[in-house]
Amino acid sequence: MRIDLISDTITRPSPEMRAFMMEAEVGDDVFGADPTINRLESMAAGMFGREAALYCPSGTMTNQIAIKLHTHALDEIICELNSHVYQYETSGYAYNARVGINLIEGEYGKITAEQLKNSIKKKYDWLPESRLVVLENSTNRGGGNYYTLDEIKAIRTVCLENELKLHLDGARLFNVLVETGESTKDVGSLFDSISICLSKGLGAPVGSLLIGDKAFIQKGRRFRKVMGGGMRQAGIIAAGGIYALEHNVNRLKQDNDRAKAIGHILQGLDYVAQVKPIKTNIVIFDLKDEPADLFVKRLAECNINAAAFGPMQVRFVTHLEFDDEQLAELEKRLKTL
Ligand SMILES: *Cc1c(COP(=O)(O)O)cnc(C)c1O
Repeated sequence: MRIDLISDTITRPSPEMRAFMMEAEVGDDVFGADPTINRLESMAAGMFGREAALYCPSGTMTNQIAIKLHTHALDEIICELNSHVYQYETSGYAYNARVGINLIEGEYGKITAEQLKNSIKKKYDWLPESRLVVLENSTNRGGGNYYTLDEIKAIRTVCLENELKLHLDGARLFNVLVETGESTKDVGSLFDSISICLSKGLGAPVGSLLIGDKAFIQKGRRFRKVMGGGMRQAGIIAAGGIYALEHNVNRLKQDNDRAKAIGHILQGLDYVAQVKPIKTNIVIFDLKDEPADLFVKRLAECNINAAAFGPMQVRFVTHLEFDDEQLAELEKRLKTL
């Protein structure tokens, strides 16, 4: 049995999702004429209590469009050091938006309102203008940690006091909401724009959504086009997103719970030095004395796929193809490693 914990992006559409996709009505979305994409976009906007949404090929694109639209050249964006927008988007903020970046070293990927307040640049000719804050929730490199609504509200207040825009990189937001019981509408009212990924734990094959005001999304369509993200009969893949939002949100709790179960197993193993607090579906742990690369190779020999996340650090991500049977099998293999 192959156990793949490298990422929740590896999930494949289920037979039910595929059947739903096969039936999708399609049209040319560059003309705004794909009924399935239109339905997905209005569904997502409604969930967050916002006016509009934009279906894009990836979460990198939704983040990049947001950064571009909220800023001008010579501004800076503020985010945590481990953020996806800094670490994994090939410096797109500089390339697409010609802005600088102001990094805050947070805790498990999270910044505080106080840290934010202290990082905002004073208005001098020789300094970039702080313009946009990007929060990641849950935090990927932060080990799946999350912000509570109250923490976000405090950050929002600092943003309003300083005329900063606030964007949410909510690639795994639903993994958070099934833990906290907070609602999408609560989240929707606190950000200028929101990005969510359909292709991670939600299990759709392709796509992310950018959510915000009508005028913002209207401009977003232009930037999506220039980035090469204007797709034609993409309703066939967008249908997977509709299916995911209708069927796969609540089940994310199981992924979070299985991640915690893995954490318990790891804590009992003599080769594990430390497990980061497990809050959602990401498990990051440190090894005592084996380099992560070698350990991951040994895992591969036992048919377990995982990522080395640092010299001595390994990451597992749970998802909808990882079930209780695989969890039991994983425990067996980890114990005999
Ligand atoms: C996966 C991810 C994204 C978007 O990734 P794509 O592969 O471009 O869809 C953005 N932010 C975070 C935190 C992610 O984990």
